[in-house]
Amino acid sequence: MNFRTIIEPFRIKSVESVKFTRREDRVEALSAAGFNVFRLRADDVLIDLLTDSGTGAMSSMQWAAIMQADESYAGSRSFYRFEQVVQDLTGFKHIIPTHQGRAAERILFHTILSPGMVVPNNNHFDTTRANIEVEEAEAIDLVIPEGRIPHVLHPFKGNVDLAALDRLLDERGDVVPLVMVTVTNNSGGGQPVSLENLRAVRDICHKYEKPFFLDACRFAENAWFVKLREPGQADRTPKAIAQEIFSLADGCTMSAKKDGLANIGGFLAMNDDSWAEAARNLLILTEGFPTYGGLAGYDLEAIARGLEEVVDESYLRYRIRSTEYLGDKLIAADVPIIRPPGGHAIYIDAKALLPHIPALQYPGIALANALYVEAGIRGVEIGTVMFGMRPDGTEVPASMELVRLAIPRRVYTQSHIDYVAEAVIHVASQRGELRGYRLLEAPRALRHFTARFEPA
Ligand SMILES: *Cc1c(COP(=O)(O)O)cnc(C)c1O
Repeated sequence: MNFRTIIEPFRIKSVESVKFTRREDRVEALSAAGFNVFRLRADDVLIDLLTDSGTGAMSSMQWAAIMQADESYAGSRSFYRFEQVVQDLTGFKHIIPTHQGRAAERILFHTILSPGMVVPNNNHFDTTRANIEVEEAEAIDLVIPEGRIPHVLHPFKGNVDLAALDRLLDERGDVVPLVMVTVTNNSGGGQPVSLENLRAVRDICHKYEKPFFLDACRFAENAWFVKLREPGQADRTPKAIAQEIFSLADGCTMSAKKDGLANIGGFLAMNDDSWAEAARNLLILTEGFPTYGGLAGYDLEAIARGLEEVVDESYLRYRIRSTEYLGDKLIAADVPIIRPPGGHAIYIDAKALLPHIPALQYPGIALANALYVEAGIRGVEIGTVMFGMRPDGTEVPASMELVRLAIPRRVYTQSHIDYVAEAVIHVASQRGELRGYRLLEAPRALRHFTARFEPA
């Protein structure tokens, strides 16, 4: 008998209490936080869906690996175990540990970019874009048109627009040092990229002799979508698919806080010897010696074990299904979300839900704040506050106004998710009462983290 219920593929060995608060406490906490949920104390949040980054639960095997880690400064046994696992998965020659994904991005871009250069991607993640722009280079998004329209269904909405990539390399190839593709496409809704599309990107890169790098933060979730959706892939293991994905590229940046199933860490990996040498020199200057890169030996152990666990089929089946489960409930209640649901998060279309709030009064902030006040749930705006500030200081509406509810890995159970669905549907039923916000103060780069607002 094949039972239909997909259960959590683990039992719980240690628990952490969550704090229940009253609505009036949350109104006060949000106001004190400048109406920006990033500025809340996490203790005042009941269900925290701010991010799936570093918020996952580690397994007993990861904790056990932590206990037997080697904290030697140079040449630690834990580094060689980490390097072996990453090499087995990715096939890349040089494996450079970093304290998280953005450190890998900074080291890569600072060593290869100069002002006026251009880096294409399906959609740059916010830290990727910022690390390119800080070098006075340009970050260009080339996702397929379907990937820009929340309600349009497509099995691989993270795919790169191949004609647009070819055109860019044909016209401006001399200023493009590498091509990136983000798997899954976080800023575009956690949407996967097909193997077919990745192979075609690789071919275009070969044609123009450009290195191809992956932003690989959610490679395992992408591999699972390939297995489910791409013709001919159903019988392969997620690990074999992931290995093929990496084999198409010349390098990657990775945040181990996502599909590394760890609370901190990342790496930069590549085949090119001279880029790797420059990267290691910068690493030593700002992160640490190349066999730890700003991490403890025990972090390297946790990541090594996490990278083995994340490609487990029962884990990925549960992971992707539990995100889809929340999406199904919201779709059934006519809450507009990016469809189909992505791998790590549900993205509510705040522009469609709150058409009465103009983009420059931040409908995503209005919705995220209402979810917190009504239910103690913390999501995050991915819209004009995150992406609307141009390097020249002008503000333009983002192409989408989204609120992301990211699901931490192995943390919440089905009843937590049922509560989230009930709360979102309740807030959506009161949509007419929500009001926009005005920006009070914000830094220029990555302003969403620290901005303060007031009700408009
Ligand atoms: C999280 C993330 C990053 C940055 O990683 P950090 O570990 O947060 O620095 C880069 N790209 C994508 C797609 C991400 O999701």
